[in-house]
Amino acid sequence: MVDLPFNPLKRAREVEELVMEGLARKYYRFRPARYYAGIATADIVGCPFPCAYCWKYGRNLHPEMSRDRYYSPHEVANRLLSVVKRRAFNKVRLNGGKRILHYPS
Ligand code: SF4
Repeated sequence: MVDLPFNPLKRAREVEELVMEGLARKYYRFRPARYYAGIATADIVGCPFPCAYCWKYGRNLHPEMSRDRYYSPHEVANRLLSVVKRRAFNKVRLNGGKRILHYPS
């Protein structure tokens, strides 16, 4: 068993409280990205892990500071599809946080 400096399950529940409202989740932007020959990207708010090398370390460390809004899964899909159509991409991704928060139990 690995000794972690924090409890990831407890931290996941805490982050969930801060970034979820029912099935809606906080996102801070939807964008085209040049990676993978072009991919529609939704940037999530909230991750239970405090990886020091993460490009959004500060935002993940303090999700309560975020003024970003909540999006339903349907809204997220529509926004990503809008980027796909506008840029003629064929890929999407959810980025910068853990997608598995709020997994139904
Ligand atoms: S998004 Fe990935 S790299 Fe960033 S803190 Fe979470 S697990 Fe770590």
